[in-house]
Amino acid sequence: MLSYIIRLDDATPKMNHNGWQEVESILDRYDVKPIVGIIPDSSDPLFCWEEDPRFWTETVQRWIAKGWTIAQHGYHHVYHPCKDGSHSEFSDLSYEEQMFRIKTGYEVMVNKGCQPSCFFAPGHTFDNTTIDVCRDFGRFDFISDGYALYPYQEKGMLFFPSIFDTPHRILPFGVYTFILHPSFTKQSAFSQLDRFISSNRKSFSSATEVLLRCNKMREKSAIEKTIHPTITTLRKIRKMLLIGR
Ligand SMILES: [Zn+2]
Repeated sequence: MLSYIIRLDDATPKMNHNGWQEVESILDRYDVKPIVGIIPDSSDPLFCWEEDPRFWTETVQRWIAKGWTIAQHGYHHVYHPCKDGSHSEFSDLSYEEQMFRIKTGYEVMVNKGCQPSCFFAPGHTFDNTTIDVCRDFGRFDFISDGYALYPYQEKGMLFFPSIFDTPHRILPFGVYTFILHPSFTKQSAFSQLDRFISSNRKSFSSATEVLLRCNKMREKSAIEKTIHPTITTLRKIRKMLLIGR
């Protein structure tokens, strides 16, 4: 099986509407149904475009009508510093605090008329407690994150992996989630997305289609377990080389 999934991050009433309209028209042209990550109650000053008063009542409802997969993307999309020097909205927080943020965010979305079937944390930053909370909360079909070639199960939650953000051919098999941030995507990246979908349309699936076909109990293989550490090492080397310049 070869499946490409598109994920759009950071939908909020104050997103960059031009970028979002651009990506929506490309996806509509090829009838590709993405995962759309909606921030339930954004306090992130990064999203400072004009507020769309019809975001929840019209925009999100249009996406639902088109069959897009709705994801809960964090809660406020605001990060705190973590013990390891990274920043996260969830990592290092207690089970109770993470449950509060995920449950409250979920309820905000349901009250606005959309029920997310997927969760993913801002900045790919979460810890084992986040997985425990998503599993115990029991409302999400899967988490969109992690490194593997196919969806896999960890700590009782299903993960749809995303090894590379940028759409490109990798191997002739596997399930790949390509991630776009339409508020900040450059025109050249939209054109690249258009060309890539045009030449590879048959390999694109919606998350719902992959969910029906995938083995939900599969665990990561020994080789897949090496993907994340390998990528982390390569990134560190790249960073060192760039600093050394
Ligand atoms: Zn985000």
